[in-house]
Amino acid sequence: MTLKFHRRISFKLARAGVILAFILGGLLSSIQVYFDYLSHEKDFRDFIERVLQAARPPAVRAVHTLDARLAEEVVTGLMQYDYVHQVLIVDELGQTLAEGAKPVADSNTGWITSSIGAIYRTYPIALQMESYHQLQTGRMEVVVNMDKALEPFFNRAYYVLIIGIVRNMVLVLLLFIAFYYMITRPLISLAASFSEVNPEDPGDRRLRLPRSHDGDELGYLAQIGNQFLETLQKRLEERREAEETLRDSERQTRQIIDTVPHLIYAKDRNGAFVFVNQALASFYDRNITEIEGTDHHSLHHLISNLESVRFDNEDREVIDKQKVMFIPEHGLTDIYGRRRILQSNKIPFRFFGKPCALIVSVDITDRVEAQSRVEQLAFHDPLTGLPNRNLFYDRLTMDIARSRNHGAYGALLLIDLDNFKNINDSLGHSVGDELLRNVAKNLRNCLDEEITVGRLGGDEFTVIMPELGRTPEEAEQNANLIAAKVLSELSSPFFFNTQEFTVTASMGVALYPDKDANTEVILRYADTALFQAKHEGRNKMTIFKAEMADAVSKRLSIENELRTAVKDKALMFYYQPQVSVTDGRIIGAEALIRWNHPQRGLITPDEFVPVLENSNLILTAGLDMFTQACMQVKEWLDKGWWEEDMRVAINVSPKQFYQPEFVEQIIEILQATRLPAHCIELEVTESVVIQNVKDTINKMLSLKGLGVRFSLDDFGTGYSSLSYLKRLPVDCLKIDRSFVTDINSDVNDAAIVSTILAMAAHLDLEVVAEGVETVEHLEFLKENECDYYQGYLFSKPLPAAEMGELLRLQPKNPK
Ligand code: C2E
Ligand code: CA
Ligand code: CA
Repeated sequence: MTLKFHRRISFKLARAGVILAFILGGLLSSIQVYFDYLSHEKDFRDFIERVLQAARPPAVRAVHTLDARLAEEVVTGLMQYDYVHQVLIVDELGQTLAEGAKPVADSNTGWITSSIGAIYRTYPIALQMESYHQLQTGRMEVVVNMDKALEPFFNRAYYVLIIGIVRNMVLVLLLFIAFYYMITRPLISLAASFSEVNPEDPGDRRLRLPRSHDGDELGYLAQIGNQFLETLQKRLEERREAEETLRDSERQTRQIIDTVPHLIYAKDRNGAFVFVNQALASFYDRNITEIEGTDHHSLHHLISNLESVRFDNEDREVIDKQKVMFIPEHGLTDIYGRRRILQSNKIPFRFFGKPCALIVSVDITDRVEAQSRVEQLAFHDPLTGLPNRNLFYDRLTMDIARSRNHGAYGALLLIDLDNFKNINDSLGHSVGDELLRNVAKNLRNCLDEEITVGRLGGDEFTVIMPELGRTPEEAEQNANLIAAKVLSELSSPFFFNTQEFTVTASMGVALYPDKDANTEVILRYADTALFQAKHEGRNKMTIFKAEMADAVSKRLSIENELRTAVKDKALMFYYQPQVSVTDGRIIGAEALIRWNHPQRGLITPDEFVPVLENSNLILTAGLDMFTQACMQVKEWLDKGWWEEDMRVAINVSPKQFYQPEFVEQIIEILQATRLPAHCIELEVTESVVIQNVKDTINKMLSLKGLGVRFSLDDFGTGYSSLSYLKRLPVDCLKIDRSFVTDINSDVNDAAIVSTILAMAAHLDLEVVAEGVETVEHLEFLKENECDYYQGYLFSKPLPAAEMGELLRLQPKNPK
């Protein structure tokens, strides 16, 4: 930048100098001129006084003598003086004696003279003789031209003023030059070096000034300026470092926020995103930079109107009311249209001074779903999705209470599928499961909404029918209608892999409320009715009647008594001989359990084995009984009544067999009783095998390794499949009594038995036919080359003593 001349300090100083020089010079010169004037005027007055004094005596004489010539001489003498303009001499009578005047001349200084006083000053002089004091004589008037009189003064003053101005001008010029070199020029260079400094980054640039200025004001200014630059540079460096640190920490914070899997973002009052983290960007499948500045309306087209409005309102409320908001659970459709559940915190926030809402949202969909799955699992049956035992129990309890309060009657229906076990055992669990799902679906479909359909486990379903009527009769009638509907619905055939199945069901119904019977009791009533229905031939429905309660209590008391019986070892084995079809020799025996009841005498297994199995008593009782049989046979063996190749067949219930330590327990007992393993034959049913083929085969193999034999009981009643049979390490098949009974009259049964026998021969298995009561039965078996049989024809199951007697009497095998 170049400075304008008239703006420079040197010029301004010079200008001020000029003005001051003029004012001061003028003033001083004026004072000088003034004093000069005063002294000049005084000198002049004295001078003219003396001149007039000198002229006066001749003038007096001329007047006194009326000597005109003399007067003329005086006048002429006076007129010699430049400044005397006019002289007049008048006698006593006023007659002009002599007179002289000069013409009026032009003058440059006349205006000054007239401003000081009159140009023409008249000096009147009385012309009086010394001795004639009182007499008026003539007079002389001398008119002086003051302009002329002051002329020397004017000339002097003129030079004084001119010289003064010139001197001042020269002084000012010199001052200007001095100022320029001493102040302006260094200032300009200072300014130039200052202007070269970058205020953003002074670096090592400093103000430069010649050394001659060291110690003066400019030097001081440059020094201060340099100090200032020094400090500025230092501060700038510090600030840059601070900024770098700040940027670093911002980057780190950003990184941290971006690795957090939750949505973190801030929105302003207009709903625009002012800050978002990576998780939010991923949520919208965009880049962070694409999102900032936009709002969710433009990013999120699938968001529902309701969600969108709610978001905007909440955010605005947070900003306007400076309110912290916690929304524990809210739904949100994501950009792929998936339903998500979020938990959000919204807090008022200032983002670079702008009021915003900072929002942290956690996607809790998985947690909520897991929770609801857990709830579903806790209260629903995983296979069918129906309410499980817990939920069913709650609902029943509630409805019993409600019915009691409202004076209405409801009913509980228990359903047990009749032949489910067979299907499950023979076709496998996947078919069984499919069947159960199908039943569940059909039940649910054929019943009204307010009716609860639940599954208690296995093939047991339950139906809670609320508000069936105001009287028990009305309720019973309606329960009958619904039950009939259920029965017909269930009986419709079901297909699996093109195979057709039909299920039938037995149903027990209990009405409620019933006096003060609680949920437990109502359940037991329905169970009793169900038991009755099964007892009466299945595929039917029975409504609980008070009389049946006796049966229930009987079952309960049986369980209690059995518990004592097991403890007191009141259970015993009867032995039914197994006989060779060809020569009628006893080849072994089946041990069949009996209960010697203190009051009721001998009780057969049909009545109590299911109770044992249901109550788990079978586990302890089974081992006791097994020990008992081993000891018995060992005794006969030791007595020589039991031949080495004979075997005792012992029934094993599925529950026993599935005990993980079953094999070890058998081995232990065999060792304890020292009975050779080959004397033992374990009877299992197909249901045992099918539940877990691999495990079963492994267990059988490890026992077979010791010499224990296996037979397949009740063969032919299940869906006996040849493929299983081939893989099973069994030694013997037992043809069920139901086939043998009508073997001579029913061609189907005869065909089944002969097929089984042919199959067994093919697979090299022994066969024992059960329930042989007549000679005809035996004839048939003989013709069809059956190996062994057991039945009333030869002997009923016998107490150990009697069996021992039979063995003792049998002649020893010559082999
Ligand atoms: P099961 O294993 O099929 O036993 C054969 C059943 O047929 C026995 O009935 C036997 O007395 C009967 N029986 C034998 N020959 C004839 C006959 O010629 N005519 C008729 N009408 N019946 C005959 P029991 O002793 O009442 O046993 C019934 C069922 O109880 C057995 O059927 C078996 O499944 C079970 N059981 C018996 N003892 C035990 C045991 O110790 N443990 C287990 N888990 N179950 C047992
Ligand atoms: Ca058996
Ligand atoms: Ca049997």
